[in-house]
Amino acid sequence: MSDDKSRNARHKRAMQRKKEYIDGRIKEATIDKGLLVVLTGNGKGKSSSAFGMLARSVGHGLRCGVVQFIKGKWECGEQLLFQDHPLVEFHVMATGFTWDTQDREADIEAAEATWEKARGLLADPEVKVVILDELTYMLTYGYLDKDSVLKALSERPADQHVIVTGRNASKELIELADTVSEIGETKHPFYEGVKVQKGIDY
Ligand code: ATP
Ligand code: MG
Repeated sequence: MSDDKSRNARHKRAMQRKKEYIDGRIKEATIDKGLLVVLTGNGKGKSSSAFGMLARSVGHGLRCGVVQFIKGKWECGEQLLFQDHPLVEFHVMATGFTWDTQDREADIEAAEATWEKARGLLADPEVKVVILDELTYMLTYGYLDKDSVLKALSERPADQHVIVTGRNASKELIELADTVSEIGETKHPFYEGVKVQKGIDY
C-alpha cells in the first residue's frame, strides 16, 4: 500500500471512532432546559455574542427581552435593528458610563429602575430568551443587591434562557450558570490608537 493509501485508511478508522464517540455523547444529551449563559473576561466579543444568540432566537420566532445596563455613547446597531421588533422588548439604562456620570447616587437609581425591567422579563413565562448586557458591573459596583439578582435568576421560568455579559463575573454567578465563557484579550486595536468602528464595536 502506498503511503497515501495507508494514511487515508488510518484517517478513516480514526474518524469512525470519533463519530461513534460523538454520536454516543449526542444520544446521552436528552435534557431540555433554560440555560444561564455567562460571557465574561477582558477580551472583545461578549455583547456581540449575546446579540448573535438574540438574532438566532428571533429567527426561530422566540419572544425575547434585552436589558442593557450601560448606555454607550454610540447607538449600537443591535438596538437599531431590534428595538422595534415585535418579538423583542428592549430596555436601555438611562445613564451613560459610570466613568462619565461620576454620580454614584444617580447611577444606583438608574440601575434599580433598569433592574425592575429585567425582573419583569425574568418573571414572564412567555419570554424565552433574556439578555442582561453588562449586568456584572452593577454587581461589582454594588449598584444592585447581589442576592436579589441571584434569586430572580434562580426562580425564572424553567425553560427561559438568560445571557449575562460583562467583565469580572462573580463566583456566585459562575456557580449558578450552565455555560460560562471567559473571553481573553490577545490583541485589541484600541491600544494601537484605533477608534471604535461602526459594525464591529457598536
Ligand atoms: P462587543 O460588544 O464588541 O462584543 P464586549 O461586550 O466583549 O465587546 P465590552 O467590555 O462590553 O466588550 O466593551 C464594549 C466596547 O469596548 C466595544 O467597542 C469593544 O470593541 C471595546 N472593547 C472590548 N474589549 C476591549 C479591550 N480589551 N480593550 C479595549 N476596548 C475593548
Ligand atoms: Mg459588552
